[in-house]
Amino acid sequence: MNFVSTRGEERVSAPEAIVRGMAGGGGLFVPKRFPEVSKEELADMLPLDYPERAARILGKYFDEYDGEGLAAALRAAYAKFEGNDPAPLVRMESGVYMLELFHGPTCAFKDMALSVFPYLLKEGCKLLGVKEKILVAAATSGDTGKAALEAFAGKEGVKVIVFYPEEGVSKMQKLQMCTQDGENVNVVAVRGNFDECQNGVKKIFRSEKCNAYIKEKGYLLTSANSINVGRLLPQVCYYFSAYLDLVSADQIKMGEKVDFCVPTGNFGNILAGYYAKRMGLPVGTLLCASNKNCVLTDFFRTGIYDAKRPFYRTMSPSMDILISSNLERLVFEASGRNTALTAERMKQLASTCRFSLPSEEISGLQESFYAATASEDDTVECIYEFFEEYGYPMDTHTGVAMDVAQKYLEKIEDDTMSEKRPMIVVSTASPYKCPQDVLYALTGNDVKDSFKGVKRIHLLTAMKVPEAIKSVRYKPIRFKTAVSPDKMFSALQTFLG
Ligand SMILES: *Cc1c(COP(=O)(O)O)cnc(C)c1O
Repeated sequence: MNFVSTRGEERVSAPEAIVRGMAGGGGLFVPKRFPEVSKEELADMLPLDYPERAARILGKYFDEYDGEGLAAALRAAYAKFEGNDPAPLVRMESGVYMLELFHGPTCAFKDMALSVFPYLLKEGCKLLGVKEKILVAAATSGDTGKAALEAFAGKEGVKVIVFYPEEGVSKMQKLQMCTQDGENVNVVAVRGNFDECQNGVKKIFRSEKCNAYIKEKGYLLTSANSINVGRLLPQVCYYFSAYLDLVSADQIKMGEKVDFCVPTGNFGNILAGYYAKRMGLPVGTLLCASNKNCVLTDFFRTGIYDAKRPFYRTMSPSMDILISSNLERLVFEASGRNTALTAERMKQLASTCRFSLPSEEISGLQESFYAATASEDDTVECIYEFFEEYGYPMDTHTGVAMDVAQKYLEKIEDDTMSEKRPMIVVSTASPYKCPQDVLYALTGNDVKDSFKGVKRIHLLTAMKVPEAIKSVRYKPIRFKTAVSPDKMFSALQTFLG
């Protein structure tokens, strides 16, 4: 399938969209149209397992790729997950369902896409006849970085550099990244927040000088962030699979609508849910859950996106984001796919930190999205109560989503106009990824050491400690470099040598 830019006339093949990562002029690639999944096709997928379902869905977007190769790559990718289902759906006694996306090699949902991304990239290069080696650069709010490092470590012909906000990730996230093996990877702390990190990476992408340097070194630059469709679209699959699991388990009838609640930062995960809906999956409302950095909540309620506001560090660091990259793709859809208007709005955002949508566009979005915020106290309370009531521990990001889902369900309860539908809460990380904050939420105890947190959570919940968490404990710290945001390219130069 062809991909078009949100900001201009470009039109490229799937491999080109993946290998380049980003369109010209700062635009993002989006599928030329949303491929439809009919009711019959949905029913056909019922008996399939996750990799097979994913091959059907992804194949619709990436039809230039060999179908069997793609299916084999997906099978291999998800074989690295713990347990026999990479995206299990768990029913809570309260009636909501948890879609657990944290059973991959780094314990966060980024593994769902990044496990298959190396194949998409490598095969894409082959299809395009690219001779250069690949340089993957990523900004991370904590989890993308580790998932990208793990996915590419030791792979031939690829180098990976990850930038993370020095003070803006959990200790465990930092430890996971800085102990990463592999001669082809590098990790750099940036003295700034995630927005500055992401901006720095985007600048490198746009700069002719940087690109020329990278080319001269024999590399082609690409991105592992969800601005890359190779990262974004594999995420569509778990929305389909969760729905099918509900049908298989006789929880809903085929065709009945369900809601999803998604803890949101860069808007990649929830956008994939929106794409699933546009492809014909019976989705009612997509709940966009934010922490105290509630720029998206305000946007969905008022139509005004205003990033000029205080930035807060919260206990859900992967959602501490004020410039939500993938929102551009939604704004593009809201405008009726108007590239000039989208470019104009994004230019405004870059220069004034703000843009707004007219009422007909925002009310269109409000038909699909509901947005709300969970404060730090709400999140702690929710994690505590859920464990006390149902014995189910969740991580801090998922806690934000659960709090928002509960607020929404209460609102619906009082509102005779709204329809109550099955609710799927997307669980994006293992509780062991932010062990100190989770332990605090569960017990009120503060511990300085991440592994003390892990141990106590294990004693309290009996939840298995994933290998990925255990294994970083005794590994040496390999990466210690920290730079200011304007020195990110220099760090990249040092890495390429
Ligand atoms: C990345 C991340 C999020 C936010 O996802 P987006 O796609 O950026 O909206 C939420 N929770 C966790 C644990 C994450 O790693």
